[in-house]
Formats: sequence, C-alpha cells, structure tokens
Amino acid sequence: MGEKFVYSFSEKENLTRDKRGGKGAGLAEMTLLGLPIPPGFTIDPEACNRFLENGNQFPDGMWEQTLKSLRELEDTIGKKLGDSQDPLLVSVRSGAAFSMPGMMDTVLNLGLNEASVVGLTNQTKNERFAQDAYRRLIQGFGSIVMGVNGDMFEEKLGEIKKGKGVSQDTDLDAGVLREVVAAFKQIVSSETGSDFPSDPIDQLRLAVSAVFNSWDGERAKVYREAKKIPHGLGTAVNIQQMVFGNMGETSGTGVAFTRDPATGEKKLYGDFLINAQGEDVVAGIRTPIPISRLSEVLPDVNGQFEDTAAALEKHYGDVQDIEFTIEKGKLYLLQTRTAQRTAQAATKIAVDMVSEGRISKEEAIRRIMPEQVDQLLHPRFDPKEKIKALAEGRLLAKGIPASPGAVSGKVIFDADRAKEAGERNEKIILARPETSPDDIHGMIKAKGILTSRGGKTSHAAVVARGMGKTAVVGAESVVIDLEERKMSSGKRTIREGDWISMDGETGEIFVGEVDTINPGLKDNKDLFRLLDWADDRSRLEVWANADTPQDAKKALEFGAKGIGLCRTEHMFMEQDRLPIVRQMILSALEAVKGDMAARKEFESALSQLLKIQREDFKGILKEMDGLPVVIRLLDPPLHEFLPKKEDLLVEVARMEERGEIYSANFDSQRKLLERVKSLVETNPMMGLRGVRLGLVFPGINQMQVRAIIEAACELKRKGLNPRPEIMIPLVAYVKELKVVQDELVETARKVMDEQGIEIEYKFGTMIEVPRAALTADKIAELADFFSFGTNDLTQMTIGISRDDAETKFLVNYVEKGILEENPFQSIDEEGVGELVRLGVEKGRAVKPDLEIGVCGEHGGDPKSIEFFNRVGLNYVSASPFRVPVARLAAAQAQLKKS
Ligand code: ADP
Ligand code: MG
Ligand code: MG
Repeated sequence: MGEKFVYSFSEKENLTRDKRGGKGAGLAEMTLLGLPIPPGFTIDPEACNRFLENGNQFPDGMWEQTLKSLRELEDTIGKKLGDSQDPLLVSVRSGAAFSMPGMMDTVLNLGLNEASVVGLTNQTKNERFAQDAYRRLIQGFGSIVMGVNGDMFEEKLGEIKKGKGVSQDTDLDAGVLREVVAAFKQIVSSETGSDFPSDPIDQLRLAVSAVFNSWDGERAKVYREAKKIPHGLGTAVNIQQMVFGNMGETSGTGVAFTRDPATGEKKLYGDFLINAQGEDVVAGIRTPIPISRLSEVLPDVNGQFEDTAAALEKHYGDVQDIEFTIEKGKLYLLQTRTAQRTAQAATKIAVDMVSEGRISKEEAIRRIMPEQVDQLLHPRFDPKEKIKALAEGRLLAKGIPASPGAVSGKVIFDADRAKEAGERNEKIILARPETSPDDIHGMIKAKGILTSRGGKTSHAAVVARGMGKTAVVGAESVVIDLEERKMSSGKRTIREGDWISMDGETGEIFVGEVDTINPGLKDNKDLFRLLDWADDRSRLEVWANADTPQDAKKALEFGAKGIGLCRTEHMFMEQDRLPIVRQMILSALEAVKGDMAARKEFESALSQLLKIQREDFKGILKEMDGLPVVIRLLDPPLHEFLPKKEDLLVEVARMEERGEIYSANFDSQRKLLERVKSLVETNPMMGLRGVRLGLVFPGINQMQVRAIIEAACELKRKGLNPRPEIMIPLVAYVKELKVVQDELVETARKVMDEQGIEIEYKFGTMIEVPRAALTADKIAELADFFSFGTNDLTQMTIGISRDDAETKFLVNYVEKGILEENPFQSIDEEGVGELVRLGVEKGRAVKPDLEIGVCGEHGGDPKSIEFFNRVGLNYVSASPFRVPVARLAAAQAQLKKS
C-alpha cells in the first residue's frame, strides 16, 4: 500500500516523536500503558512537509490511509462520523516533535451538521449540550479552517447574551444556542462566500489541511526561530474521538502538573473548570478552580487522577504537564509532556527524585543546566515585593535579559558620573543607548547596566557577564536622552538620580526600589547536595580566580578546591598603594642603570610594598589553608599604574600657562610626563610585561617572592599549612623562565633559611603565547605546573584583540556565520584548543604528573569545560560566582565522556 503515513494510537511501530510528533507519541504511549485515552490515530509529520512542498496536495496514499483508519476507529467505537442517529465526533489536533504550545491549530467537535446534531441530542438527551458543541465547531472551524476573524463570533455571542440578559455561556439554553448556531453559519457564509461544510468527510479533509498549513503560520515561524526549532520538521495531525467536559456538573476540563513547576514541591498543581470544553481554562473566560479542590468537587475522579498522574510520572521518570477532560465522572487524558520548570524547581525535583529512588544521581546531575545554577545564586527580587511592584503598575519596560541578578539603584547616563557616584558608594545603574570600552570605568562602579540597544552579545552584555553584574540590554521601548539626562518609556520619564530596579533574568525594569534577597549556596540545600554528588563524579577540579581574602572566602563557600589565579596587580591598584607603586616605577629604570639616588628610592618603595604584600598573601593563604594558591607575579605593562599621558600633557600645559613653571609640583609633573612618555608602547599587550618585567626589573619579582614565602613561613609557624604556587606569566622561551626562576628559587631559599622554616612551594608558568604551547616539553623541564591563560592565548593565536574585537567586529563574525560563537567566551577548539591539547601532551611527556590548569575566562564556561576535561587538565579556575556552575559542568563533562 506504499509509504505508511498513518498510525493508530495503539500501534507500537515507529513510536517516536519524529514519526508521530510529541503529542501523538505521548497519546500512543499512554494508550499502550493502559491509561484512559480516547482512541484515535496520527498522521506522520512527513506528510505535512510533502503537503507544503507540493502546493497543498496530500502525498500519495495519505488520504486513503486516513479514511481507512477512520473506518477502523468507527468500528472500534461503534459509531460513525457525522451519523444522524449516534454520531462519532473527533478532534483534529496539531502536534510537532517539539512542544509549541498554542502556536498551531486544533479543531474540536468535528462531524457535526444539521442531521448529526439531532442524533447527538437524542443520544445525550441534552439538546443544550449538542447545540453548544455545534456552535463551538462552527466557531473553531470557521476561524481556523475558513479564515474568519474569530472576534466576529465572540462579538456575536456577546451580543446575543446581552440581548438575553445573561453573563455566562453556560446560562444559554438550547433554544438560544440554536439561534447562535444560525447566526454563526451566517457569519461564515457572508465572510467567506461559501457555506459551512456539512459533509463530515469534507470537514475532516479541510481541517487536516488547515493544521498542516498552520505549521507555516507566522506565529509558529517566529516561535521556532526563538526556540531554534528547525523549520523543516513539519507537524503531525492527531485525529481523536471527542470526549466532553461540557456535559454538566460532573464533567470538566483542565491542565495539571504532577509537581509544582515553579517551586518543585511534590504536589499536583493546576486548574480545572466544571462543565467546560477545550481551552476554556486557558482562555480565562471563567475563573478556574485549583486542582487541590478536585477532591471536594469530584471526589471519585480525584482518586483516578492522582493514580494516573503518579503512573505517568513513574513511566516517564520526570514531571509531566497533563491536559485532561472529565466526562460524566470519568477521567480522560488528552496530552502529556515533560514539564518546563524554573531553575529552583529543576534542582528540587532532581534531588527529590533521587531520594524517591526514581532516578540515579548521575541522571539528576544531567538534568540541571549549568546556567540554571547561575540563576539560583544571583540576588533575586523578593517575590512579595515584586508582586507589589507589578500591582502598583511600576513595570517600566522589558528588555533582553543579558546577565542575571536583580538590582536597584540610581540611574546615571554617563560613565564618568557613574564612576564618581560609585566612588561615593552610591548604588547606581548605568544606562546608555549602548556601551563601549570607554565606559568601562563607569561599568565597574555600577551595580547594573541597562542599554536600549544591542543584544546578548553586545558589549554591555558580555562585559556585565564577565564582571558578574546584572544587565538588561536592548530595552527598545526606552528612549535615552543623554543631553537632558533622562529616559522615557511610554508616558513615563525617569531623570538621572531617580531609582530604578531591574532583573537580569527576566529583563524587567521597574520604577523605584524593589527589595532583593541574596541566596547563598548553603541556603539552597538541594543545589548544595547536587553539587556534592557532582564533585564525586568529576575528574576535573574547580578552583577559583581570587585576588583578596574576601574573594577567597566566597570561592570556598562555593566549593572551590584551590585558587588558580591570584592577580597581584589588583593589589597594586588600591588608592593608598598607588603612590608607592608609582615611586617604584619611576625610579626603576635609573635604578637598574646604577643611579644611586634612584636605587635608594626604588628600594625604599620595594620595602614598603614588601610589608603590604606580605599581609595580602597572608590573608589569602590563611583563608585557603591546606589548599593550593597560584599567585601570579606582576604581569601588566607598567604604564597602567601611571596617569594617562594625555591628562598629564594637559596639566603641564595649564601650569605653564599659569606661570607655575618654578614650582616643585611642576617639576615633578613634568618628570612624570617624561617617564610616562618613555613607557608608552605601540602594542602594550605585546610589550614590556609578564616575564619580561622580571628580566628587566628583577627586584620587583624578588620582592613579591619574598613576601609570599615570608607570609607562608609566618603561617606555618602558627601551625597552618600554606601551599603557595608561584606563577611566572607570558613565557615564550624556556630560557626566559630559566633566568627568572633561578633567581627566584634563590630568593625563596634565602627567606626559608632566614626563617628557619621549609615551605612546600612550586614554581610554574602560564602557557599563554603560542610559542610556549609549541615548546611545552622544554618548558616542562623547568616548570612544576602549567596554567593556560586562554584569554591571551586566544588573542595571540587568532590575532584578534579582545577589547577591540568584541565591540567592533566580532558580532559581525557571528552574524555572518564565520564564527559560531565568541571565541573569548567558548574556547575555539580547533585552533586555540589544539594548542592546549598539544601543550598538555608535550608537557606530560616530560613530566607525567605535571599539574595543569586553565585560568582564563573559559574556565567558567560549560562548553569549554567539556573540552578541558577531554584533554586531561587537572583543574579549571573560574571567578568565584562561576564555581558552582563549573562544578556541575565538570561532572557533566565526565559523565558524557564515560
Ligand atoms: P494545543 O497543542 O494548543 O495544546 P490541543 O490539540 O492539545 O492543542 O487541544 C487543545 C485542547 O482541546 C485540549 O487541551 C483539550 O482540552 C481539547 N481537546 C483536544 N482534543 C480533544 C478530544 N478528543 N476530546 C476532548 N477535548 C479535546
Ligand atoms: Mg492549540
Ligand atoms: Mg494541548
């Protein structure tokens, strides 16, 4: 009989979503489980594709198979479609492989006409019901299949109800409903020029075509694009015997979840309506009754319902979202699917199901998306406060949620002013049409970032996520007036300094303050347990990037097993230290050349910094007692610690103008300017930085190593177990490392001798230029550990500067399909990743136990983590708030591998 397109619900063959769509597969599976499902059959989505390709022609054999299945259905039930004595009625339901709720069409009560409506009346002895079913068919069929504007029916119905002085559909009696039917038919004829088709087979053919066509409808297309569902899948059509929720007070219809999809609580959740059909519940015509009251309203059905829900959950091993109808006290299921749920519900459900013995711990780990972990740990609006704000009409606008967390603050429209306000410790939200690297200083001080343009990969979004700040971007209804320092949305205007609140998870922007709550990992017992299971199953450890004892503490709370990157330059940037750092930098060059005065200056600066740094390191090593702490020696180009050349030029010129050229201040500013000029580089990121600083100014590194070892000695004397690992950055040649490391080993030796204490420390290097990766075997002879600096390694390998690329052209690359994703977010496996793989291989060939980690941005990215696990790294290091995400991702990576 040629190609098979039609499957009965009770047929086991090809029971897959691609052959039957999600709804059809669910109906068949439930039928085979013996659950109460009205019988029916499914047409393969492939038929839909062919139909649309062939100019709305059913593919060969499909219609014949459909009619044959219909006859079989009629035989099973013992009724005929559209029969004038005892008619069978069916629904014609869309149902693609992926759930697209409400996006496509479904026709109910098909098979009614002037003759069969009488049959239905006689059989049910309920003319009111029969006429109501008929008018629903004309209404549904008229709008979905014949293209009449649905509002016309609603308006007509409203008019008639008003004329009769009733408010509810259920108050209309049979006589009035007959009038409604006549009026509806009239609307169909006058709107379409053809009569409502009375032949049931015509009705069926037209309805199936309409459901096929709804796959190509505008709203379905938009939905697929948003959800990344391929356009070529097509929809199945399900033809199913009707059951009736509108047969009086012991009938009804509803929607339920087997557990609460918002909180995860193990309790049926949902709504139903008595004496109603189809989507009356969703349409909100009458207020539905919560499912918890089913036991009062229909106690007999409640028992059936609970058993069925439990059976479904057990069969699918996950929470189900169910559509059901009750006909005269008998329960029928019409649909089931895996329930969508919030991050909170997802974790609770996964953990509960493990306790219930339903799923394994591994499965629980697989069911949570790493990004959901992220959502759970950012501050959130206090739910009560948010409801209040909504009720008060304070929702200003909605943008694209770009970086999670909820914040309130004063809105400021300029980065300089944001920075000033931030320095006064004001809570602020920086709002700009879009941001650029020139705004970074303001962004750093802001609690949140709002833009009216740009998407999820815009500068604002990327930077905010990198900094763990809340961001809402592309809020297009918000018009920002930078000149007037105000923004407006609709009729509302917000001036600079006014308070707003926003939620980076939903994109909502509120006027005024909305209180937030701050969840910690310990506060979320389910997540805490889940991550504990995750750690037991991962091979890759998760460490954290942390520069201060506070960050280290946070990292520990989040479950980090070490510090993979402690940057010392941040310690130099603090206001009280900057003058000393500048003194060090300004005297360094002459000191190296042998100028005695400069040397004294240099050394005095170093000895002051030594004391400060010793305290810094003591703090972190103490916090991380017993765990490894990788401390990177000074890395950035020195000019970053000095004032900007442009600013100094202006200042010196002004002083000259004012005739202050003989003042001491003028002299020092001019000297500063000279020094800054001498340090300016054309390509600072490839200039005098990293290991090269140590080669030119060995004193700085020595001071830092002394501070580290002295701090460790002091802690060890107190009975602690400090484990410093000293990291030398930007090495390209093993000889660079050799010169610097040999000197520093000597320094460490000297300190330990002075102190009379031995410290277990390591020396290692960053692998962050391609040459280092390519010669990793040589480098491994010297280094005790490697840490891949994938930010620099990506820049240097691709030859793209991150700061310039992300704002200027990277988006373009992604849009044009040259790159699938931003290589600074997810590692470029083919290129940069290959260097990492090679580095690991070469390094381990020389030292099989070489400790290898990664400390770039990629350390917190789930997709990159999967790669790092595959190539055999020991740990990834991420910013503290990404640690829980990385822990889950590391476990998932390992589960995937084995
Ligand atoms: P959607 O994909 O939009 O959810 P459905 O095909 O599930 O559309 O149909 C919507 C509603 O119509 C169902 O939830 C159910 O209430 C009603 N319905 C569909 N088929 C039947 C049927 N055979 N008997 C009774 N009601 C039905
Ligand atoms: Mg629908
Ligand atoms: Mg449905």
